[in-house]
Amino acid sequence: MSGERAPIVVMKFGGTSVGDVSRIQHVADIVAEHRRRLPDVGVIVVLSAMAGETNKLVALAKSCVERPNPREMDVLLASGEQITIALLAMRLIEAGISAKSLLAQQAQIATNSEHTNALIESIDADQLSALVSQGIVPVVAGFQGVDERGDITTLGRGGSDITAVAIAAAVKAQTCFIYTDVPGVFSTDPRTCKNAKLIERVCHEEMLEMASLGAKVLHTRSVYFAMRYEVPLVVLSTFEGPFIPGKNGTWIVAEEELMEKPIVTGVTYRTDEARIVVEGMSADIGKMSRLFSELSRKNIFIDMISQESIDSGAVNLSLTVPDENSLTALETMQALGPELGASGVKIDRDIAKVSVVGIGMRYHTGVAARVFEALARERIGVTMINTSEIKMSVLVPRKYCEVAVRVLHDEFTDFQLTTGEER
Ligand code: ADP
Ligand code: ASP
Ligand code: MG
Repeated sequence: MSGERAPIVVMKFGGTSVGDVSRIQHVADIVAEHRRRLPDVGVIVVLSAMAGETNKLVALAKSCVERPNPREMDVLLASGEQITIALLAMRLIEAGISAKSLLAQQAQIATNSEHTNALIESIDADQLSALVSQGIVPVVAGFQGVDERGDITTLGRGGSDITAVAIAAAVKAQTCFIYTDVPGVFSTDPRTCKNAKLIERVCHEEMLEMASLGAKVLHTRSVYFAMRYEVPLVVLSTFEGPFIPGKNGTWIVAEEELMEKPIVTGVTYRTDEARIVVEGMSADIGKMSRLFSELSRKNIFIDMISQESIDSGAVNLSLTVPDENSLTALETMQALGPELGASGVKIDRDIAKVSVVGIGMRYHTGVAARVFEALARERIGVTMINTSEIKMSVLVPRKYCEVAVRVLHDEFTDFQLTTGEER
């Protein structure tokens, strides 16, 4: 983001932070305290629905029809945030602070029409800035948008983070604070591993990888917005007092701002994928292309791919796909089986993808060796592998997920530093 920043901060509070009325009161206190300490800095608040509310709405829709219509699903899902913004605005007004709740159509958060996974296209920054300059705290519904037809859209689960960072980018805010239920970004999910360490600074590239590989503390697209528009971004706890480096808060920064580049910054996991193996299929490139085009035609996202030759001209092809699409993927491949010359198609839903992420991997060799040694010590078998410049992911049986996370975390959390000159 070029040019001056406006004297505005964006504060986003997640589901647990607004989980009940007493917590909403606590959020109002945080906003009031900020206004009292820094009266010249405007505040824009972005809220999630109360914890568990969006899950309940999803379940409600599915109890009504098996495949809810996406447009109607968005009308339903967006209702959770409507409740919290109204309640917080009421509390702020009661405390003598001018506040106004805004739904996406009022804040003019324009998106495309990709219902349940819409992308933000623009935000009316002038309107929000004008409210702030009148001394009003806009309390904006996260997670929702409006398309060109005026229909309500939602941004994908966890999407309030995206709303917050996109607003911060649009109004050129000084800082975007993501208040949540843990004190920042940790070296692994603090709920899975008690040795997880708070990270004081993590760079955008690492955070993008960590988020997309399972660290749900930030939505991947919010990190992308922060990187693209240079939004100063902090993750901190709603419940542990103000921002105190090392105790409460993680800055998401540009790589150049990192003093130290650990080989591995974080260990993450996902358990929402399934593995499908097409056995003994023809290795012919035309047949491969046919299989992938058919999956793409059905909008099935493919994550990991590996191929193992079994005998002349035949391979076992393994893929991972989102678990929610795995049955469609399985049926598609079974239907194509005879045409591909496959001898069978198998599915395994009891898998976990465990990943190590770190910018220092660019400058170090030997990470794979350490990953395999650590997993071998616990006799954890790996079925698939995926690497990029700053991450390595392994697929393991789901029952070993937590152990794999812990051993890899323990293996790498000596946080060996690199200056980038050792390759
Ligand atoms: P919110 O409702 O505030 O948006 P989320 O539940 O979306 O909160 O994200 C916070 C959760 O992310 C934490 O409770 C934690 O269990 C989980 N998490 C996963 N990986 C990490 C990590 N590396 N660092 C911090 N939290 C993590
Ligand atoms: N309420 C939405 C969800 O649960 C958005 C969010 O919390 O960020 O996914
Ligand atoms: Mg979240």
